[in-house]
Amino acid sequence: MAELYTYSEEETIDYARRLAEGLCAGSFISLSGDLGAGKTAFTKGIALGLGISETIVSPTFTILRMYETGRLPLYHFDVYRIGMDDLAETDFYEFAFGNGVCVCEWAELIESELPEVRVDVKIERAGDDARRIIVENIGA
Ligand code: ADP
Ligand code: MG
Repeated sequence: MAELYTYSEEETIDYARRLAEGLCAGSFISLSGDLGAGKTAFTKGIALGLGISETIVSPTFTILRMYETGRLPLYHFDVYRIGMDDLAETDFYEFAFGNGVCVCEWAELIESELPEVRVDVKIERAGDDARRIIVENIGA
């Protein structure tokens, strides 16, 4: 488990970028934290670390966006609007257990459906621009 504080969006992106350099095909990252915590910012860093050139756009309304210009494909979910109820109607299971890197915002809403082996990232506000980030390898 790692606990750290960041003091700007750029610092969060940079931390996630470095974390992503160690990810491999099939990695799953669950992102938990309130609205505005920095889950999408964290995903931007993961994309950079994978060498993705596209701009990351929050999948709040689309549920899933994918990016295929990096060293591994990135599947970016935001399950806030569907929660458990309609998960089976999405491509979640296909990509959560697929061959790319899957990042899921609001993963705490679907905890029972998450892969057993994953990286849990919890982001909490610790002031205006300060964030407490807790990273835990689960099931590895
Ligand atoms: P979420 O996806 O969790 O709803 P976003 O990443 O979309 O959150 O938004 C985070 C917001 O907080 C952005 O406006 C960002 O600039 C701001 N912010 C301020 N400080 C930080 C920090 N230390 N880490 C990440 N984001 C930060
Ligand atoms: Mg978001």
